[in-house]
Amino acid sequence: MQGDTQQQLQKALSARKTLEDTYESQFKTLALLVSRLSLACKGIDAELDNRLAKLRLELKRGTDLEKLTHFIESTSENLKHLGAKHVLEFQKVQIALTEAGKLLQQQKGLPDNLRRNLRKLISDIKEPSPTVQAFLPLMNQLIAFYEQALHAKLQPYDSCAEQYKKKCQLLSAELTTYIDSLNFAYESADELAKIRTSLVSTSLPIDSLLEASVKTLSILIKNVSNERLVAQSFLLTLNEALSGVQQAVLTSLSVSADSKKQMQQINLHLSQQIDLLSKESIQATSLVQLKNLVSDKLLHLTNTFKQKEFLENQEHERLQSNLTKLESYIRDLEEQAEHYKKRLHEQLAQIQIDALTEIPNRAAFDARYQQEINRVQRGECNLSIVLADIDHFKNINDSYGHSAGDKTLKVIAQALQSQLRETDFIARYGGEEFVLLFTNTNEPDLNIILNKLREKIKRIAFRFKGEEVPITLSFGATHFVTTDSPYSAFDRADEALYAAKKAGRDNVIIKTFS
Ligand code: GH3
Ligand code: MG
Ligand code: MG
Repeated sequence: MQGDTQQQLQKALSARKTLEDTYESQFKTLALLVSRLSLACKGIDAELDNRLAKLRLELKRGTDLEKLTHFIESTSENLKHLGAKHVLEFQKVQIALTEAGKLLQQQKGLPDNLRRNLRKLISDIKEPSPTVQAFLPLMNQLIAFYEQALHAKLQPYDSCAEQYKKKCQLLSAELTTYIDSLNFAYESADELAKIRTSLVSTSLPIDSLLEASVKTLSILIKNVSNERLVAQSFLLTLNEALSGVQQAVLTSLSVSADSKKQMQQINLHLSQQIDLLSKESIQATSLVQLKNLVSDKLLHLTNTFKQKEFLENQEHERLQSNLTKLESYIRDLEEQAEHYKKRLHEQLAQIQIDALTEIPNRAAFDARYQQEINRVQRGECNLSIVLADIDHFKNINDSYGHSAGDKTLKVIAQALQSQLRETDFIARYGGEEFVLLFTNTNEPDLNIILNKLREKIKRIAFRFKGEEVPITLSFGATHFVTTDSPYSAFDRADEALYAAKKAGRDNVIIKTFS
């Protein structure tokens, strides 16, 4: 019995020893982990560093955990505060990285792909992240983007070659459209055509574009000066004619004043002669004496009357001749004014017509758009704005040449115009884009009209180099609402056009105000 108890005690002691050994080994492992963790945290906070150093020492010494309870609790409290501080630091880093990204975004001349990647990076930075460390790869990426941007800035023409090319193409297209609107410059038509042809090359460098722009400008100035000379010579003629009229009126006035005086004198003379005749006839004593007296005075009177008649005739002739002169001046003047008016009328009409397609140009559109908007605002009608853009038109130029492109533009413009009603309006807005205005057309009707136009163009059998090439148009439309500005409604139509392109082209999208 005693042996049994001893055996059991022995067993219990050995079990306790094993437990204590396990406990000690686990404690050591844990102490090692805590030590290593505390070392990994080193540098975050000075006070925490001190506390952890102390903890490492105590753990190394194997100090009783119970004695450390208070110390561990206060360290844990310290860690809690540090956690809150950490969140703040984290937010600061997030803000600073976003700001740095945005600053880079504001730089001009960034390559397209860099700009795209940067946009993505900024949205990644804004994503909530559990640790500051998670920012490290984003930070590295941002630094790499800064490097790329710096590189692009140092070699603008190499890394921005694509953008430079695009800019040149845009300038070239705009200059072509301006030249098409200069069709009132008849005398320089050949020169302008030459410049326009030189713009066909899509890879024209900036200095050639500048040269073409300066030439166009000088033609414009020459034509404006010519026009001023014409206007000046018309004004001179007008001035001469008016002074002639003034002179003729003055002469006839002074001549009239002279002859009026002469006439008054003759009239006085006549009445004096008649007075004398009556006085002397009373004094006559015989019939013979009276007869002589009367015949003598009658002769006098007849002479005076003749003189009066002569004067009157002379005056009449003078007036007649003056009148004829005045008539001729006025006729000349009328002819000149008529000629000048016709010229102005023609120019006004020409100035609003696109030379290539012979439909109204952008200036005409601007004027008409404002007129229609005024009507909408007076409540007289409603208005739909439509933008139509030829699909993949660049391919036509690239594959069949610019003059094939020009002809295509003309055919499409004419075909579109021929389908419109009297109250509708179409203009070439620029390049291969057209703008149309419809009044009092509701959305279902507009949809039908535009799809008809789209089908009409699609059915035209264009043939280039013996091949039949289908050409399609995309349409973007909207209705003008009273709260719209000219730009906001136009932009909405442009967004609809963009959507039509994105949806695969050759279609119609109408965007309503929302
Ligand atoms: P999308 O379907 O996206 O509209 O493609 P796109 O090729 O039509 O559009 P993009 O804007 O890339 O190219 C327009 C082309 O139109 C480029 C330019 O050469 C051509 N273009 C613009 N004006 C004229 C012109 O007066 N005559 C000719 N022949 N081509 C022109
Ligand atoms: Mg276009
Ligand atoms: Mg196009």
